[in-house]
Amino acid sequence: MCNGLLDVLYHIPEGRGAGLRRDFAARLGAVGEPSRVSGVWRYAEMVMAAAPTDIVSFPEGNTPLIANARVAAWAGCPRLLVKHEGMNPTGSFKDRGMTVGVTQARRIGARAVACASTGNTSASLAAYAALAGIPALVLVPAGNVAMGKLAQTLAYGARTLAVRGDFDACLSLVRDASPRLGIYLLNSVNPFRLEGQKTIVFEMLQQLDWRTPDWIALPAGNLGNTAAFGKALDEALRAGLIDRMPRILAVQAAGASPFQQSFDAGFRARVSMKAATVASAIRIGDPASFDRAVRAIRSSSGAVLAVDDVAILEAQDRIGTAGIGCEPASAASVAGVRAAVRAGLIGPDDQVVAVLTGHLLKDPGMEAAAATPGVTLRNTPVEIDASISALEREIDALRA
Ligand SMILES: *Cc1c(COP(=O)(O)O)cnc(C)c1O
Repeated sequence: MCNGLLDVLYHIPEGRGAGLRRDFAARLGAVGEPSRVSGVWRYAEMVMAAAPTDIVSFPEGNTPLIANARVAAWAGCPRLLVKHEGMNPTGSFKDRGMTVGVTQARRIGARAVACASTGNTSASLAAYAALAGIPALVLVPAGNVAMGKLAQTLAYGARTLAVRGDFDACLSLVRDASPRLGIYLLNSVNPFRLEGQKTIVFEMLQQLDWRTPDWIALPAGNLGNTAAFGKALDEALRAGLIDRMPRILAVQAAGASPFQQSFDAGFRARVSMKAATVASAIRIGDPASFDRAVRAIRSSSGAVLAVDDVAILEAQDRIGTAGIGCEPASAASVAGVRAAVRAGLIGPDDQVVAVLTGHLLKDPGMEAAAATPGVTLRNTPVEIDASISALEREIDALRA
């Protein structure tokens, strides 16, 4: 056994781009079964050939691609678009992978499903397992999960174990235990999850009428999504859905940047580190999908950047005050675009899609942000006396 990760390989419908694009377009606005409406299963030919009765779907996907002039101006990238994956049923892109992973669990008759998680994977697993009626076990680092995510996991009925250790410890524990206990493992080491996550790329390309952007930026933690994006683009190119590759920009938090450090050294060696960042969803020091993410960066002539916590929180604040709420890890993508524009890596006329991976309500963490030295939030609560004169002063200030 090599202990490497598996990839799902299947017959890509090569050179059928025009026909596929027509089929995908015909399914937009479908009504009825979740499997018909889903922004994941719309692309079934590129994901999984499952019988409709096996599909476990809320539905998910169908997330907006937003052009916001204020966010674009702040990033220094006039043609920036953001794809808001926080608009999925449990508030993160993890739902796109989980609908496919739990569908596979149902197809093989799994008795129970399990994952280790920094929070969003467990929330998503708990919800899809509940929908499928399969018992779920989740391992999270004790005291290190954002409250919104923990609340979801508990509410959706998963058996929740708070492990005295970090995410990396949770993952190695559940990876060792699941084959012995006969539990179906649904971390992103599970290749079917990545098949679902590919649809972030297919959906954004369809929203762009299959005109390839110059760059796709995303936050990078365990690197499953980076690997999924690379696979999606390779397959879209082979199928003839697109005719050129965009470049992938993977963005890490400076305190959890093993992939960026490895990239800077020409990917000559794999790096791991002790992870520390406010962005809990990417607080990962030993990413599981390292090797396949290297392939994604290489095949897309991509790049990997790191941004510090102040930059991440500032980006979250600027995106938020534009009316788009995302969690800190998500804001790393926009912070990375800003840094890449300043470094001259992204050109002023480039079209960039930045993926916002999770919703603001997952990890409001305002106290943490306000307490981080160097961060200035644009908007904080103003405490007033319960009097009409105090209120009037505020209304006057609003008009001024
Ligand atoms: C899981 C997650 C990430 C990181 O994705 P990886 O595939 O682990 O690199 C980033 N942001 C959010 C909100 C997530 O839930």
